[in-house]
Amino acid sequence: MKTIKDFNFKGKKALVRVDFNVPLDADFNVTDTTRLKAAKPTIIKILEDGGSAVLMSHLGRPKGVEDKFSLRHIVKTTSEILGVEVKFIAATVGAEAEAAVAALEPGEVLLLENLRFFAEETKGDLAFSEQLSKLGDVYVNDAFGTAHRAHASTTIVAQFFEDKLAGLVIEAELVNADKVLKGGVKPVTAIMGGAKVSDKILIIEKLLDVADNIIIGGGMSYTFAKAEGGSIGGSLCQDDLLEYVLELEAKAKAKGVNLIFPVDNFLGDAFSNDANTQIVLRGQIPDGWEGFDIGPKSIEKFSEIIKNSKTVIWNGPMGVFEIPLYATGTIEIAKAVKDATEGGAFSLIGGGDSAAAINNLGFGDDVSYVSTGGGALLEYMEGKTLPGIAALQA
Ligand code: AMP
Repeated sequence: MKTIKDFNFKGKKALVRVDFNVPLDADFNVTDTTRLKAAKPTIIKILEDGGSAVLMSHLGRPKGVEDKFSLRHIVKTTSEILGVEVKFIAATVGAEAEAAVAALEPGEVLLLENLRFFAEETKGDLAFSEQLSKLGDVYVNDAFGTAHRAHASTTIVAQFFEDKLAGLVIEAELVNADKVLKGGVKPVTAIMGGAKVSDKILIIEKLLDVADNIIIGGGMSYTFAKAEGGSIGGSLCQDDLLEYVLELEAKAKAKGVNLIFPVDNFLGDAFSNDANTQIVLRGQIPDGWEGFDIGPKSIEKFSEIIKNSKTVIWNGPMGVFEIPLYATGTIEIAKAVKDATEGGAFSLIGGGDSAAAINNLGFGDDVSYVSTGGGALLEYMEGKTLPGIAALQA
């Protein structure tokens, strides 16, 4: 796969698929600029080479043209972050867009209107893709978050270009995921959490080949506890997977991978910040109570393993971290990952909620890499081919 580092954009117009799907408040202010900042190095490299950049993105899930999803709302913030005036055109394809691109000078940036104003985008429509391809001499994809979708702008459009390149975000995402997938420095510890076992089955299966330790916390851990004969009260459980998780435990044992479970659980009698609480040993949750976090002994045990690891991958919170009462486990595990990183370990935080958790808790700068792609990272780690990546290699 060629990246933009292998290319000189002098005199070229680069059609760049960025991920500007940012959250907006009621007054259309951007409330999280992470994705805009992430796209900056790729755009600046194009401009510094003497090229110009035509940016295309989706925003939200509009049904046809809906002004509240117009990308014009983010023009000011994007200009400030890039340090370059971003020109905006209220067209995505067609004569008007083509004229705006033709008028673009080296060093200039043009943002097109929301791709998803056209149903053709998510359908991966060939004619729409061909129209998009008229808006640049070279194609760059830097939207890792949508690389697992075969949409017009992320995948289909690539076939119309001789030069199709990965941007720096996509390159960094793959390089960092490969640091774990292609055999990280040992010991390798995976921390898995979140609500459901079913969401994580494929990735856990994959991790069995590369990890020394797999820590299982969060809501998903209670299915294992119940399968082992424990009492879990009203905690989350996927009863259809009780047999499967025991098979998974046996598979891990056969491969010499340590599956590590909480030793205790922090219980609440309600999904709220002023619930009554108690701490009990794993598998001893009384009726009327739910496990909403890992307990102190688990924190101690998990932290010790994490701090002694040289590679750490984390996906999914240890408890209901959105409620402060149940956030302790996730915060303490974040601290352990931070300590491991400071001690020289490589740490990768991936998958939507985990990235949000680590950023909201203020640990985003204390780990090696926080992935920008939720579903895309998971699919990549599961070993699936991402259409957006494959299109750059074709
Ligand atoms: P995921 O998207 O699979 O990473 O799951 C994240 C969600 O799992 C968060 O919204 C957490 O609140 C939720 N979660 C984590 N642990 C628990 C638990 N013990 N009980 C209920 N929900 C949980």
